[in-house]
Amino acid sequence: MAETNISSGGRPALPMQGVPQPSRDEVLNLPRVHISTHPVMAHKMTALRDKNTQPPEFYRLVKEIGALLAYEATSSLALEREPIETPMGPMTGQRLAGGIGVTPILRAGLGLAEAFREVIPDVQIWHLGLRRDENTLQAMEYYNQLPHRVDLQVCYAVDPMLATGGSAIDAINILKRRSIPRLSYVGIIAAPYGLLKLSQTHPDIDVYIAALDESLNDRGYIMPGLGDAGDRQFGTL
Ligand code: URA
Repeated sequence: MAETNISSGGRPALPMQGVPQPSRDEVLNLPRVHISTHPVMAHKMTALRDKNTQPPEFYRLVKEIGALLAYEATSSLALEREPIETPMGPMTGQRLAGGIGVTPILRAGLGLAEAFREVIPDVQIWHLGLRRDENTLQAMEYYNQLPHRVDLQVCYAVDPMLATGGSAIDAINILKRRSIPRLSYVGIIAAPYGLLKLSQTHPDIDVYIAALDESLNDRGYIMPGLGDAGDRQFGTL
């Protein structure tokens, strides 16, 4: 007889078991989704995914990949004119208009937030703790350091793995309550399932990722993915 694999509560023991998933081709051309095609990104992604890459090198790669993503995701930010004097004389330069916020979803988003800070040193970093329940895959908020007064032109929610989309959707919901004019999501690897969910739930945000993978396994891990992005960054394997 076939094993049913149902937990005592009546739910499937593995949260993605039997859940239909879209294919990669079905989500490749979603509006406002930007998937890197840069060869340097592909090169770094291979090193990141490799199971032999150890945590110090993994964290360094997350920051390098994050810097490339930050560069891409900030390419259409608003500028304002600013008159300055160079050693040779006056000119009108440009500065970023309004603040830039980065919300790392703890803890795996910390490396990407650091990458944004290296590209734009005066970003505001707003930490948000969302933990996913391993049985239901629902995101639960346990830490929120978002300020009450907000003066940003954009805020980026950052989390390396867009798996079921639960945490990303919740993070954007939380940020939407702050009346920030523009929100984006930046991640390293997405599964078609989570990417479609995020894009359908929040069609008004831009999504930047380095790679789109094949699927989620029964436990909700991205395949082929890279394993647990938090454990691999912080050595808690
Ligand atoms: N979170 C991870 O760290 N890895 C996955 O594959 C999915 C979610």
